Amino acid sequence: TKENPGEAEFHQTLNEVYRSIEVAVEANEKQYREDALLERLANPERQIKFRVPWVDDNGQVQVNTGYRVEFNSAIGPYKGGLRFHPSVNIGIIKFLGFEQIFKNSLTGLPIGGGKGGSNFDPKGKSDREVMAFCQSFMNELYRHIGQFKDVPAGDIGVGGREIGYLFGQYKRLTKLYEGVLTGKGLSFGGSLARTEATGYGLLYFAQEMLKANGESFEGKRVTVSGSGNVAIYAIEKATQLGALPVTASDSTGWVYDPNGIDVALLKEIKEVKRGRMSDYAAVRESAEYHEGRGVWEIEADVALPCATQNELNLDDAKTLVKNNTLAVAEGANMPTTLDATKYLQEKGVLFGPAKAANAGGVAVSALEMSQNSERLQWTFEEVDTRLQNIMKNIFEQIETTCKKYEAGTDYVLGANVAGFEKVADAMQAQGIV
Ligand code: NDP
Repeated sequence: TKENPGEAEFHQTLNEVYRSIEVAVEANEKQYREDALLERLANPERQIKFRVPWVDDNGQVQVNTGYRVEFNSAIGPYKGGLRFHPSVNIGIIKFLGFEQIFKNSLTGLPIGGGKGGSNFDPKGKSDREVMAFCQSFMNELYRHIGQFKDVPAGDIGVGGREIGYLFGQYKRLTKLYEGVLTGKGLSFGGSLARTEATGYGLLYFAQEMLKANGESFEGKRVTVSGSGNVAIYAIEKATQLGALPVTASDSTGWVYDPNGIDVALLKEIKEVKRGRMSDYAAVRESAEYHEGRGVWEIEADVALPCATQNELNLDDAKTLVKNNTLAVAEGANMPTTLDATKYLQEKGVLFGPAKAANAGGVAVSALEMSQNSERLQWTFEEVDTRLQNIMKNIFEQIETTCKKYEAGTDYVLGANVAGFEKVADAMQAQGIV
């Protein structure tokens, strides 16, 4: 905290991870304390911060700040999304980059950890403005990335449109047609099932977690927050698995739809029209619309936070417990506060932490890199089958780790330790770098 003041979200994740890997560090004291491994792990290999000037539709020059944190390349090239949101600062990018190291390790694929973004807000901007911003952002970023160095993807505020503009500018600047970004359009190197991957993967993971505890999604009521890429495909897969997802939200308000969220309508409003949840409620008779936040007040068997960090606090956790919620699985990154996580776990609510539960997105991004390298495109079924196996494998690794350290169903510990051990071993083998 002394060295990096004001980075609250980064301190929060560092606290969570370092607390739970203590068991592994104690068991391998000599191995992990030597060579300042934990200090090295907590320091990004490289932090890049840059100016992003662009011209808006009124001819005015706007200036935003761009970031790329290349956190850890022990097991592969840096990999992690770009977030465009007005709240972005270095502490948020570092928290996301740090989480990404362990998440990527859990996927079993050769990818290191990184994250980037800007305080640019794409909301309300014209396509031309978004393009101007993306091109200016890439004018600096291109010199730091590459298929063997650092491969960014999307995150909040960065979807197919933004990745397309970023890729076009990278190609123009470098003359390279390479898999330097993932989440690309299907006509220029994108992977089938990448759009669905995080939401679907979340449900595959949660399904494994329920199964291991004698439960399933069949007939379960599910609350979901968010209405972006992760939330939409979590809702779609939940429906396919026989559950009833009854909520969705955005930063203005939320919807309770007791008949189950109509996914086709949600996609039309959010993906095509770039509209709001209030537009959904206006055309869907069974839906109630509420301003502000409140999704977690609705009774449900499973809660899936899929919007942003710290959106499920201790009071929300108490409401979930009061309503006999069986499980929480995190689609967003760090959506649950530390005290809420602790409370849920103490009360016996199954808890699937983000770095395991939402790893499906980056896993399919790594599969997109594989397809780009071999100049082939796999079928939707092939990618989806691999995704299912990866999520199953992540849960198995966590269970094995929980058994090894006698941690019961503390899947937070299982995920942190399993992700950490592989990265730590790779760092040690590569010497003091
Ligand atoms: P999107 O931009 O597609 O959607 C984000 C959703 O969350 C929107 O509904 C947005 O509402 C809402 N939201 C964002 N910020 C806030 C806020 N401060 N308060 C309330 N609501 C908010 O992003 P994604 O779906 O891609 O990402 C959602 C989460 O999932 C993030 O935590 C991201 O890091 C994580 N994630 C995403 C992956 C991916 O593949 N996309 C992979 C792994 C994790 P509004 O439109 O009003 O802003």
